[in-house]
Amino acid sequence: MREILGPAFRHRYGVGAFNVVSDLTMAAVLDAAAQTKSPVIVQVSVKTVKILGARMIQLMFTELASRSPVPATLHLDHCPDIAMIKICLEAGWNSVLFDASNLNYEDNLRQTKEVVRMAHACGAAVEGELEAVRGVEDGMGSDEMPELVPLEKCVKFVELTGIDSFAPSIGTAHGLYKTAPKIDFDRVRKIVKAHPTPIVLHGGTGLSNETFQLLIAAGCAKVNISTMLKIVYCDSYREYLSARPKEHDPLKAMAHVHDSIVAMARGFMEVFDSAGKAGQPVNSI
Ligand SMILES: [Zn+2]
Repeated sequence: MREILGPAFRHRYGVGAFNVVSDLTMAAVLDAAAQTKSPVIVQVSVKTVKILGARMIQLMFTELASRSPVPATLHLDHCPDIAMIKICLEAGWNSVLFDASNLNYEDNLRQTKEVVRMAHACGAAVEGELEAVRGVEDGMGSDEMPELVPLEKCVKFVELTGIDSFAPSIGTAHGLYKTAPKIDFDRVRKIVKAHPTPIVLHGGTGLSNETFQLLIAAGCAKVNISTMLKIVYCDSYREYLSARPKEHDPLKAMAHVHDSIVAMARGFMEVFDSAGKAGQPVNSI
């Protein structure tokens, strides 16, 4: 994760972090990355880990990523449960988001430090979060606006915990936007200026290309896409099968869904400007 986010942050391009739910979706995201020569982050929600198991996801990732020519990493999305983080780290995952945004500042700081110590000992990275990202995703979160932590305390949190990337509240939300979001570009710039660290953009689905590019230029090096993958997955199955009521070959339907997800992910990789960045020596980019 650090090898992927470091160059992205320094050179201000964004790496797509796609929430996958199966082998098909994981392979499609890795294929999109290979086709566009992009580094890529494969991430998985706690809900999916509970269904498939940390070990199986890690094995699936190791196998699929080993066939891919681009840098790829496996990340656990929003996890408030230290026991589950431990299970994933022991299974060999590369990175975790410890989401202690429901705790008060001091408890969050203390527990995040503990997770960073644990993860770094395994060579894994930690994404930290202080304020909840608005919206519900895979049964986690709330539609309430989070209370913002003053900038100084945010920067202290990043410094004291030693997290590898930071997900502040910047006006984005999980799910689909009902009205145009009010993005706080300046908050990203101020945090990055005070303590240069890769910022994570949550709630990517539904933002304009211009918003993505401005946020990436400000320091958002990891761009999360979850809702759009779910929409493309379900809609492409639905379209394919309803157009062919007599079709009963799952592999054909799966190939169609795979191709639709590849096209979606490729589009984001172009917009985030990660296309073409894989394969270049880390020091030269
Ligand atoms: Zn999120």
